[in-house]
Amino acid sequence: MPLTVRAQQPRGAAWERVSDILQRQVDNGEPVCAYVYDLETLLVQVQAVRSALTRRCELYYAVKANGHPAVLGALAGQVDGFEVASLGEIDKAVATGMVRLALGGPAKTDAQLARALQAGVDLINVESLHELRRAGLIGAQLGVRVPVALRVNRRHSALPGQLRMAGAATQFGLDEGLLPEAIGLCHALPAVTLRGFHLHAVSNNLDAQAHARFVTDSVAWCAQQAARHRIDLDVIDVGGGIGVPYTGGDGFDLATFSQALKAAINRLPDRVRLIFELGRFLVAQAGWYAAEIIDLKRTHGRHFAILRGGTHHFRLPAAWGYSHPFAVLPVERWRYPFDRPEVHGLCIDVAGELCTPRDVLARQIWVDRLRVGDLAVFPLAGAYGWEISHHDFLSHPHPAQLVCPPASTASPP
Ligand SMILES: *Cc1c(COP(=O)(O)O)cnc(C)c1O
Repeated sequence: MPLTVRAQQPRGAAWERVSDILQRQVDNGEPVCAYVYDLETLLVQVQAVRSALTRRCELYYAVKANGHPAVLGALAGQVDGFEVASLGEIDKAVATGMVRLALGGPAKTDAQLARALQAGVDLINVESLHELRRAGLIGAQLGVRVPVALRVNRRHSALPGQLRMAGAATQFGLDEGLLPEAIGLCHALPAVTLRGFHLHAVSNNLDAQAHARFVTDSVAWCAQQAARHRIDLDVIDVGGGIGVPYTGGDGFDLATFSQALKAAINRLPDRVRLIFELGRFLVAQAGWYAAEIIDLKRTHGRHFAILRGGTHHFRLPAAWGYSHPFAVLPVERWRYPFDRPEVHGLCIDVAGELCTPRDVLARQIWVDRLRVGDLAVFPLAGAYGWEISHHDFLSHPHPAQLVCPPASTASPP
């Protein structure tokens, strides 16, 4: 018998805050369509990650996962730095008052390099020889030091995960074979200081043991290269890539990771800092995407719920080809003088408002009851949700962006 996937029935303080803010949104009149970010959930997660890392580690946040000002503002005081990869991200990061920046991205323009250097960038993760020459030139013109980590696409990288970026042919990083030339160039360019290596390799890895092995192997490799090329190593940046289990199952086990990380720390040369640049793992849980059911129908024997919203707001399930779980938030208000369409005890596909059959967020999910006017609420939408979506396809209104403040600053009821 095939396993039935049921709509979720979330509980807990975070869900209460999120459903409260959504119920208030219902009272505003227009069909509900909103992202909700819960800053308490965010801060609790950051603290959990911090305590899993040791004092030899630094935690950076990769801004591309979620650049909402409230999210960045909440994170600015909690992490050691922001990883940025565009002019817009540099500006967003600087606006929070964050001073430690790492600049990434495979196509850094001169303007990006200059803006980052003017903002006192802590690390430029350089991805090619040409980029290195340009960074060296711009630093010399501006009269500032250019702190560089070489992003290397190593020959081997055996890390599981959804999007591989290293250990394979990709547009990222310097091929390992170019390393001697790149290091020589760093020494030859007067403005450049070679600080270390950057080895971001994967996305959405759920295996804590494997991730710790990757970090340990990265540290050993960096130490070896530093010794071979006589580099005064000062940072090893192992990037991000820790994942969340979108379709259920066990998540990334922080306690296991923390324990297994000790092997990497033991190999870390004296005075070297180990940088993590996490995106998804910090913010995914702190975001929900909610959309009102505008219609229910049955075609060719299959049931569909149709949303005021869709993949132009939350593209992740369509981009990665999976069915994203959701919860039904019942809404009692009904504004028409005729019967309210509803379904009971069946499997349904949840589609969006776009005029394409690709606009589907979840398939064959069991719902006990679903009515037009109820809300479908998708958890784990805080990372790569709004950010990666095609917002203006079909020119529908954008979702509201709602923020639940952290518990310490929330006003009493
Ligand atoms: C995207 C990215 C990250 C963050 O990745 P997550 O999978 O969200 O943790 C970190 N570093 C670099 C260079 C990236 O491109």
